Amino acid sequence: MKAAVFHEVGKPLSIETVADPAPQTGEAVIRVRHCGVCGTDLHATEDHGRKSGMVMGHEFCGEIVALGKDTPPGWKEGDRLTSLPFIGCGRCAKCLLGKPWQCATRLIIGLGDVGGGFAEYTRVHLNSAVRLPDSVSWKAGALTEPLAVSLHGVRAIGNGLAGKNVLVIGAGPIGLTTTLWCSFFGARHVIVSELDPGRAQMALRYGATGLVDATGDIGAQFRELTGAAPELIMECVGVPGMIAKCTELAPYGGEIIVVGFCAQPDTFMPAFAMAKELSMKFVIAQDKSDFQFVVDMLAAGRIDVEGLVTDVLSFEQFPAAFEALRKPTSQCKILLAP
Ligand SMILES: [Zn+2]
Ligand SMILES: [Zn+2]
Repeated sequence: MKAAVFHEVGKPLSIETVADPAPQTGEAVIRVRHCGVCGTDLHATEDHGRKSGMVMGHEFCGEIVALGKDTPPGWKEGDRLTSLPFIGCGRCAKCLLGKPWQCATRLIIGLGDVGGGFAEYTRVHLNSAVRLPDSVSWKAGALTEPLAVSLHGVRAIGNGLAGKNVLVIGAGPIGLTTTLWCSFFGARHVIVSELDPGRAQMALRYGATGLVDATGDIGAQFRELTGAAPELIMECVGVPGMIAKCTELAPYGGEIIVVGFCAQPDTFMPAFAMAKELSMKFVIAQDKSDFQFVVDMLAAGRIDVEGLVTDVLSFEQFPAAFEALRKPTSQCKILLAP
């Protein structure tokens, strides 16, 4: 099959023929229809520890072309699905609860363990798969994973969301979908802080009630727009310094949810957070119930997300477009159509 293959840091992905995947026990192989590029993919290609030959892509959807042994009942060739990007054992308590991220033996699809969706075919474990009704487009189907990441973050909020004044830091795909869910679940104000003007404008289309200039005094601008301090802050950037910034902006009793993935050392002053008795929670990935809820809302037409996709590309166009995302861009989500 054709795939976009990573070889080494500093070299674009290369379009090559690689071995077709074979379904293992409980698994299916799908024909990938669309697969989105995530910030994690860009970071992975800047990490010298990654093996040459890796096929990335963890935001995919497609249809079943082959089933392995002992698959759960009800699945057949041609079924449309999306899947959490994890292959768990399928038997432990975490897997049975729909939390394959927490399975002790889980493999990650598209980040080195198992080839991902930047290819014509990929493997999925059917315990982690969610059926896509015909009413959900492939474009929307490929957005299920990032929508489920931000939903997982919003579901981690301990003090409730309805009526709250929320600050969302960052309007990349995760910041935008976090904005969407905060609005969906009834926040009073959803104010978005973002450096790129194009992305900031996009936030207004996905439920932001106001924007603040990230280079200015965020706290003062927030207060001007809402009359209050941000009692709930969703950190969706993931660069050093953001957690300290959140503790500075939060009022007494405020809550911070850290969704932005930061793989560098970072510091903040615990005394600041203590003096305000802040709550802070870190989240990652998603549960199967997050995926199912996203698909249900897409199928019901209660969220309209296709505008997040700013390009759908062929294999030929893909490596250059992937590289272009390393520089500041007003692109939001780009998809490969293998
Ligand atoms: Zn991702
Ligand atoms: Zn397991």
